[in-house]
Amino acid sequence: MVNMKKNKNEILKLLHDVFDPEIPVLNIVEMGIVRDVIFEEDELLIKITPTYMGCPAMNAIENDILDILFSNGLENVKVKTVYSPAWTTNWMSEETKNKLKKYGIAPPRESSELLDKIECPFCNSDETILTSEFGSTACKSLHYCDHCHQPFEHFKCI
Ligand SMILES: [Zn+2]
Repeated sequence: MVNMKKNKNEILKLLHDVFDPEIPVLNIVEMGIVRDVIFEEDELLIKITPTYMGCPAMNAIENDILDILFSNGLENVKVKTVYSPAWTTNWMSEETKNKLKKYGIAPPRESSELLDKIECPFCNSDETILTSEFGSTACKSLHYCDHCHQPFEHFKCI
């Protein structure tokens, strides 16, 4: 069996090359989208959880996962989308959140958050206002910082 030549860590390493098209600086492992890598008899099962229900990027992500694993010689790969438990910001490490912030996107906070007073990723001020509930993609909202006068996006979690 070809799949048996690789272990879970090697698979995860390959998946580090798959990026969320909506957050191009973070790969799907860092994002916490990859939940599990399971070797079943002759099948390799990758479980993924969208950052929010109905995320339109998931199809692209699934295709990228299959592409990368097939091109690395793996066979019988199946990607399963799991909705429960729902994705939470806790699956993102602090390091990952910082990366997002450096990129200029305010990282997600707890799910019941209000969309005002989101900390500005540029100057850390919370004197910010919500300008649009949807930014360039449905996963992000648009904000404006009253302090440094810059617009910025915030990665929501719903
Ligand atoms: Zn600011």
